[in-house]
Amino acid sequence: MDAKDRLIQELRRVERLVVLTGAGMSTESGLPDFRSKDGLWRKHRPEELASVDALLQRPLLFYEFYRYRLGLLDGVAPNPGHLALAELERQGKLHCIVTQNVDGLHTQAGSRNVYEIHGSLRQARCHTCGRSHPVETLRKPVTSLSELPRCRCGGLIRPGVVLFGEMLPEDALSRAIAAVETCDALLVIGTSLQVYPAASLPRLALDHGARLWVINLTPTPYDAFADIVVTGKAAEVLGPMTRPHE
Ligand code: NAD
Ligand code: ZN
Repeated sequence: MDAKDRLIQELRRVERLVVLTGAGMSTESGLPDFRSKDGLWRKHRPEELASVDALLQRPLLFYEFYRYRLGLLDGVAPNPGHLALAELERQGKLHCIVTQNVDGLHTQAGSRNVYEIHGSLRQARCHTCGRSHPVETLRKPVTSLSELPRCRCGGLIRPGVVLFGEMLPEDALSRAIAAVETCDALLVIGTSLQVYPAASLPRLALDHGARLWVINLTPTPYDAFADIVVTGKAAEVLGPMTRPHE
């Protein structure tokens, strides 16, 4: 039996699964990831654009980057991989999804217990006072500093994502950790596992006796510790699970 069939078999009988997803979960929905060869904006490193430093020091570039990323979400829909995970939750096998993605596609696919540990691109808030603002505010082109979107307090209106240089939302993170510590298996999908603390969750799962399964197009630092590594595309691997005849 190949790795993919073994994984499908395990997913049919798992009792308490936690899933950790990254940008590779959504590439088959048409959203580019960061680090693959077709990744977002190859000429800038993500740490350079998606950072507090960029927001404050190079705001025109920052807002252009996020306007571009918001534009990418238009017309994008969950793929069969997202849908398969939502189905596993309905079947009572999947406890929660911990996602580094900010695209909202797991929720859109019908998953309920989703911890967005890097926040959401579908929200906007004031960098200074935290007040919520319509995300449409971030769609307006900004060509000069006087056009930067501002809150009534004078603070900059910024996307509801976690930027490099910021803490993760404590609530989502502590729930994610608690879930990983008590799962039977952690399934990691479409993440290069290079961004902490998400990248430390597989280790935590293993230390608590859970099995580790990986679906990724390219090798990850945890492949050597995983029970099953499926080298392939998330939607192609998971999609067939929800087709009735299979
Ligand atoms: P990453 O770009 O570092 O890694 C993506 C991984 O997915 C790569 O290892 C790649 O080989 C693999 N991959 C690509 N397509 C795949 C597919 N169809 N099936 C399986 N694997 C596939 O992404 P990351 O680890 O999530 O870290 C990047 C950071 O960027 C995260 O913090 C995330 O918040 C953010 N990000 C989010 C989105 C999104 O919300 N869709 C998109 C880009 C970046
Ligand atoms: Zn404000």
